[in-house]
Amino acid sequence: MTVAAVIVAGGSGLRVGGEIPKQYQLIGGKPVIWWTLRAFLEHPTVSFVQCVIGAGHEALFKSATQGLAFTSAVVGGSTRQESCRLGVEACVSAKPTKVLVHDAARPFISAELISEVIAELEHADAVIPGLPVADTMKFAPGGVITKTVDRSAMWFVQTPQGFSFPKILEAHRKAAREEQSGLTDDAAVAEFAGMEVRIVTGEQRNKKLTTKADVEAANAELNMRLFVDRPDVRVGQGIDFHTFEKGKIVTLGGVEIPHSHKLKGHSDADVAMHALTDAILGAIGEGDIGTHFPPSDMQWKNAASSIFLKKAMSLLSARGGVLSNVDITILAEAPKISPHIAAMKAVLAPLLQISHDRIAIKATTTEKMGSIGRKEGMAAYATATVRLPL
Ligand code: MG
Repeated sequence: MTVAAVIVAGGSGLRVGGEIPKQYQLIGGKPVIWWTLRAFLEHPTVSFVQCVIGAGHEALFKSATQGLAFTSAVVGGSTRQESCRLGVEACVSAKPTKVLVHDAARPFISAELISEVIAELEHADAVIPGLPVADTMKFAPGGVITKTVDRSAMWFVQTPQGFSFPKILEAHRKAAREEQSGLTDDAAVAEFAGMEVRIVTGEQRNKKLTTKADVEAANAELNMRLFVDRPDVRVGQGIDFHTFEKGKIVTLGGVEIPHSHKLKGHSDADVAMHALTDAILGAIGEGDIGTHFPPSDMQWKNAASSIFLKKAMSLLSARGGVLSNVDITILAEAPKISPHIAAMKAVLAPLLQISHDRIAIKATTTEKMGSIGRKEGMAAYATATVRLPL
């Protein structure tokens, strides 16, 4: 048996009301579609994954799937039925014997449910997961009840919906030929073509993210898992000083700020980024910047300090860790720091892989006391909290 999976991500997701379609919004730090695709790409029995995306979503899709062993996408049609047909057609050259069609907006699909649908396809041409109806159901056209429906035979259906590949391909072609439109899932296409469709029990958590509240709840759940899996909380501290020399710009937190002097140093002398890098290295007990980038090594001359920070983040990632928050205090009489804090956060957030609300940047003078008060240089103090698995 060769199993293909078609992931349907053609919707514009307007119901959620976000700036970008819901399948590309971030939950647990990754786009919704990333979690969905990963479930199928990592499944041992699924050998081919085909995505169907919305027109104009090509760039969103490319950036959302970074790091996944995956590139195949076709642009969908104007209805779900049309998008599914185009996705199934795109699998023809891969010659699968079975195909699963799944909503991109169901990121909590489990490997167990995928396996169960595939296993049931040994005995049937069409298998879909569904949940029994727990509440009493009423038939009420126009808001007035005319009867109580027998709920024992009713199901809420989910995806992945599994099919014999040649049969669902022919069913989709037949529906297109006969101009039968408005079929809202692939099971309806199978029913239209006269196929018998079986139901297996789905999963409550395999919910379709439809509203803004759904996306927010999914984000909270994934963030909680990320934290629960990393209970070892550690704090690191970093301190750095640099003196001023003749120049026109100081670089702080990756942002160039016009000033009467520049900071003297081997690299770009970004005192804030150096303190932050040492705080992260300190939290995981990995020495300091000098350990990894000896000042005697000429290759770091005038280097952008982001390379030091990236090194600290890669050491943290290698341990399975994540940053929880960072807090930086810059000590300087001048220049004025506060107008540049938002720009620094915009530089740091993608490097640190945390949101802006987990980055604090503050500045203080020393009330003209000491070397910093005499404007001989600047200093920065930073703390970083990391979470590691045990
Ligand atoms: Mg330094």
